[in-house]
Amino acid sequence: MSTLLPSIESDVAVARATGFSECAYALRRALTTTPVGWLLAVWFCWDRVPQASILLWLGCFLVVWALGLRILQGIIVAGANLERHATRLHCVAGLDGFAWGLTSWFLMGHDPILDAVLNALLCGVIAVNAQVYATYIPAFFRQIGVIWCVSVLGLLLHVASRQSAMDYAAGLTVFFALIAYYTAAISKRLLEGIRLQGANALLAARLHVALQKVELDAATDALTGQGNRRALDELLKQQAAFYVSSGKSFSILMLDIDFFKSINDGFGHMTGDDVLRAFVQRVREYLRPGDVCARFGGEEFVVVLPQTTFVEAREVAERLRLGVAQCPLLETPRVQVTVSIGVATLTAGQTVGELLATADAAVYVAKKAGRNQVQP
Ligand code: GH3
Ligand code: MG
Ligand code: MG
Repeated sequence: MSTLLPSIESDVAVARATGFSECAYALRRALTTTPVGWLLAVWFCWDRVPQASILLWLGCFLVVWALGLRILQGIIVAGANLERHATRLHCVAGLDGFAWGLTSWFLMGHDPILDAVLNALLCGVIAVNAQVYATYIPAFFRQIGVIWCVSVLGLLLHVASRQSAMDYAAGLTVFFALIAYYTAAISKRLLEGIRLQGANALLAARLHVALQKVELDAATDALTGQGNRRALDELLKQQAAFYVSSGKSFSILMLDIDFFKSINDGFGHMTGDDVLRAFVQRVREYLRPGDVCARFGGEEFVVVLPQTTFVEAREVAERLRLGVAQCPLLETPRVQVTVSIGVATLTAGQTVGELLATADAAVYVAKKAGRNQVQP
């Protein structure tokens, strides 16, 4: 069971890679909504800031924004790979932070109330971006760092009142620090959730494979690799149901190797096992792809012939009998066997158990009549 459990280290690496990729997509979505922020800023500033400054700010932002979006698109098209694209994503985060930081350079310093409103807008931008970068927090720190540096410098240079500039800078600092702190905590939980999701999916896939193997093992005879009694019963039930629904009957051949005990006695059990395997291979050479050979028990096998009439089944049985008898199954030691075969075809109202009993009775007749023959 322990081999089913994925290692935590590899899970964490996969979760980080997934988080990075999710962040790239979320950032692209966020950047496409950035113009909403521009509209808000322009709306706030229109009557209070010289229009040349507004247009200059918009122009700078547009260039930086388009560059960031282009880099991001390149990352996404190439598959958003943490190892290969981390630097480029940091670059996009930095560019976006830089563009928003320019707000204090171009739009502030004209009206104290507007300055406060624009500061609040910057806080809102960072709050929105906290969601965007939550699955890849290093890029969020990059954006916050750049936006803080550019904004604070702009405030100190462009807001006339030193006191107001310091107040705004302090406000931004506290808000940014708090949001970084809480976003880091949320990010940790998100990555853990992604890790668990990935581990569960992997575990489910491995369990599925293991279950398939168990199901196969439960239906397979270990010695010959053919279907076992359980698989045979299931197949016969299916065939019987198909007969009821379609009217198309099927036949079975019960094969019993003649004097098999003497092989064990003469050559040992191991050779007996080899003979059983060789016997199955020989039988399969004479079957169609849809026919099934299953081990009924010991040295007895049942061949299921779907949609086969009694006459056709008899022909197959005769071919099989000759095919087994005509040349040795093993060369060293040289072992040649014959087989007695009972043929039965399901008839209306007959159960699967009765069908097997009919074939078994036919084998008994074949044995009594001298073996190496098909009955009836
Ligand atoms: P008959 O012609 O009447 O069928 O004679 P027989 O010797 O084949 O029949 P019998 O039922 O007396 O013996 C069957 C033997 O098959 C007995 C058992 O030890 C052997 N046998 C059953 N399963 C295996 C197996 O998995 N491996 C080997 N080597 N022998 C097996
Ligand atoms: Mg037997
Ligand atoms: Mg036998």
